[in-house]
Amino acid sequence: MIVIYPGSFDPVTYGHLDIIERCSKKFDQVIVSILNNPTKKTLFSVDERIKLLKEVVKDLKNVEIDTFSGLLVNYAKTRGISTVIRGLRAVTDFEYELQMALMNRELDNELETIFLMSSSQYTFLSSSMVKEVAGFDGDISGLVPDYVEKAINYKLKGD
Ligand code: ADP
Repeated sequence: MIVIYPGSFDPVTYGHLDIIERCSKKFDQVIVSILNNPTKKTLFSVDERIKLLKEVVKDLKNVEIDTFSGLLVNYAKTRGISTVIRGLRAVTDFEYELQMALMNRELDNELETIFLMSSSQYTFLSSSMVKEVAGFDGDISGLVPDYVEKAINYKLKGD
């Protein structure tokens, strides 16, 4: 089975990576796809996010990095894939994720969303938390791969 794991990945964290690794073991192929949403302000450009993701998944041979804009259902259809993966951290994720999964199913009855529970050590982890902590000079080494940590520090402080 081939699955799409869509998201902003601004930037990729150990929480995302954990989901990607688990998908890579369970499914034949995983397409991690970055949503290109020009109205959402991001720290990293789409090209930068692609570069970061490619680097951190380079050892996972069945993982591909792609981007899409517009509706996920249209993208999935174009790629001929009908299964989407999303991660769930806590009940706070649930309401939004449920709404989105049901809307996607309304738009395309063939599209199925599979939820993977976050690993307990990453339940608190989000890209926005990482950016906030890094912005206040906090230690993010346990939250993102080294390569991503360097990119964040360079982006925020130029070093
Ligand atoms: P989006 O803007 O689409 O929510 P994100 O990059 O924030 O994009 O998240 C992409 C997906 O990864 C979402 O399904 C989100 O719930 C999941 N995710 C984010 N952080 C974690 C984490 N720490 N553990 C498990 N899943 C996560």
